[in-house]
Amino acid sequence: MPAPSYSPAPPRTWAEISFSALKHNFHCARQASHCQIMAVLKAGAYGHGMVPVAKALEKEGLEFFGVASALEARKLTHAGISTRMYLLGPTTAEEREEIVIHQWTPSLSSLDEIQHFNQLAAKHNIKLRVHVTLDTGMGRGGFLPKDYPEAIATIHNLSHLTLEGVGSHLPSADEDQVFTQQQIQLFEQTVSTSPPPYIHIANSAGLLDYTSNLCNLARPGLMLYGISPTQSHQTSLRPVMTLKSKVSLVRTLPKGHGISYGRSTILPHATRVATIGAGYGDGYPRALSLKGAQVLIRGARCPLLGRVTMDQIMVDVSALPLCQAGDEVELFGPNILVSELAQKSNLISWEILTGITPRVTRVYL
Ligand SMILES: *Cc1c(COP(=O)(O)O)cnc(C)c1O
Repeated sequence: MPAPSYSPAPPRTWAEISFSALKHNFHCARQASHCQIMAVLKAGAYGHGMVPVAKALEKEGLEFFGVASALEARKLTHAGISTRMYLLGPTTAEEREEIVIHQWTPSLSSLDEIQHFNQLAAKHNIKLRVHVTLDTGMGRGGFLPKDYPEAIATIHNLSHLTLEGVGSHLPSADEDQVFTQQQIQLFEQTVSTSPPPYIHIANSAGLLDYTSNLCNLARPGLMLYGISPTQSHQTSLRPVMTLKSKVSLVRTLPKGHGISYGRSTILPHATRVATIGAGYGDGYPRALSLKGAQVLIRGARCPLLGRVTMDQIMVDVSALPLCQAGDEVELFGPNILVSELAQKSNLISWEILTGITPRVTRVYL
């Protein structure tokens, strides 16, 4: 029997990923930092899809991809990515042999890690290039500055490790200028006595708002995806992801009618209400409920009504008499910035982007 022929339905909610915006932001990062670039690709490239983003950036040429774990490095390696992988935080003991065998680059935080990596590198007859992390205020990993001389002396005395770089991380580059400047100074002072080839401290906010004479590598994440950590640089960036959905129903509901769970919104007058096929099951944050969030339909901002549900949201389209089922909706993107939604919901842009769930189809443009 011939198979019945039909077109499978397109997704209701999808994320359009713009490679031209990604490239644009990458070149912004390079220009603003005057440094080599480690593109941070952890957490599925902040929800954009790690492998497609890596393939697009690799064409532009860069030094490293920053990843969170051996699992992430493996996914990129299996996809044929040849740019070097850098593990952004301390590793678990179980991850280290795979890291050594593939010659991914760890950032070392303890003498135990140093010794273990040396042992494994010796076992596989590999001379592994490593970086040391300094804790200059983040409190998440790294050697304290006073312990830097001991760390690098230990590495120099081991047969199978080569010190290739030293890094640190800025906890408050988008919040506290005085502290961040002191932190960069402390880092430079500590490192300047014996600087290895790569020296790096800047995340997106760091590279956009601070300078360092010593650093020669920057580690942008968020800005590559077109969102500035602070408002001041947003105009030079282009959002890479546009989260889109469709209107599934439009009705006029009478004054006094309730909207969504808890009936927290009661219509003060007759209202044209559009239902949209996206919700917190797609990663559109439930925390946006009742916070004045808007979506874009036919070029107009339409306010959210009531609580965000798992698969659907409702918006007021009284100002759009032509709005009908099937209309395309921008939930966030170039017109409704994810940072605007973050601010309204008391979330952060990083969290919203990484929270877009797997059921949202990524469409690469
Ligand atoms: C995530 C991360 C970055 C990127 O930070 P953004 O603020 O997204 O630019 C840089 N360095 C380290 C160590 C990180 O963990």
